[in-house]
Amino acid sequence: MKRFFCQCGQEIFFDNTHCGVCGSQLGFIPELQQLTSLQEDDKAWLMTDLFPLQRYRSCEHRDDEIACNWLIPAESSNTQCISCALTRTIPILSQPENWRRWRTLEAAKRRMLYGILRLNLPIKGAYQGYPNGLVFDFLEDQRTNPMLALEHVLSGHSQGVITLNAAEADGSFREATREAMNESYRTLLGHFRHEIGHYYWDMLIKDTDHYAMFCEVFEYQQQDYQSSLESYYENGPAADWPASYLSAYASAHPLEDWAETWSHYLMMNETMETAMTYDLIEHFDYASDFDVMMNDWLSLVVKMNALNRSVGNTDAYPFVVSAPVRRKLLFIHQLLKSLRKPRESAAFP
Ligand SMILES: [Zn+2]
Ligand SMILES: [Zn+2]
Ligand SMILES: [Zn+2]
Repeated sequence: MKRFFCQCGQEIFFDNTHCGVCGSQLGFIPELQQLTSLQEDDKAWLMTDLFPLQRYRSCEHRDDEIACNWLIPAESSNTQCISCALTRTIPILSQPENWRRWRTLEAAKRRMLYGILRLNLPIKGAYQGYPNGLVFDFLEDQRTNPMLALEHVLSGHSQGVITLNAAEADGSFREATREAMNESYRTLLGHFRHEIGHYYWDMLIKDTDHYAMFCEVFEYQQQDYQSSLESYYENGPAADWPASYLSAYASAHPLEDWAETWSHYLMMNETMETAMTYDLIEHFDYASDFDVMMNDWLSLVVKMNALNRSVGNTDAYPFVVSAPVRRKLLFIHQLLKSLRKPRESAAFP
């Protein structure tokens, strides 16, 4: 994540709607991935010194409990920002805790989308009329609302539709599920990054020139998805999964391995950008050399974990990057690099 500063010089943060020091209104411009202080012009449009010719409006969820700080260009006919507009279904708001869940889900979605925008990847929303366009359903099941017909909502992606169980916004639910599933890492942001990975697999891998290389790197031989998942839930992962995968779940099927690895790459990308802006590493961008990037990353996470233990937390980074995992991350790195620079060939060793 970049660092942002108010016009008064105070450091401001991604979710802030107001500066805590000078009281300025703040807004995030998704097109530029920039958080900035705002003034109103004589027609009550919002303007910023950074881009004096452009005028903006607030997202309609700025002043409700969602507190979305993303901006819309004044000339747009949308009333919601490009993040809020992607949400199709929300939990029933007559239950007051669902406002908090929805707010938490939207905040994690905006942060995930920040990473996607930084990578310059297209976001084709269903609300814009794209076939199989991206849309989010935040659903409850009987575990949080016994009145509902749905017994068990599982997170997943199908043809642009990303479903998340709204209860994943509750720390207690997530922690209990993490323990029951014997996972070392379970975050809401991680869920969003994983599911968007499936969406980009459809867009960037399936039916493209990258498919053959994907099959080789992720050992995909059209293994049946349903029966692989059933067998994983019945028998658990192979004991030696850490030698080839980032998580036990990644070993369930190559498409889940892709989503786990993609999610990991997004986490690395944003964390390294943050580390760079705070001068913890010297250089990082999408065109970085992969080996240099991985060396910086692995020395950074040792420090992150040590800092976490000192404040009494568990490891921020409970992963082992084996040689096969490294190769999968390299595939994603080269893929994204080739998309940024379409005229250069994407050499892959
Ligand atoms: Zn300020
Ligand atoms: Zn919004
Ligand atoms: Zn998945």
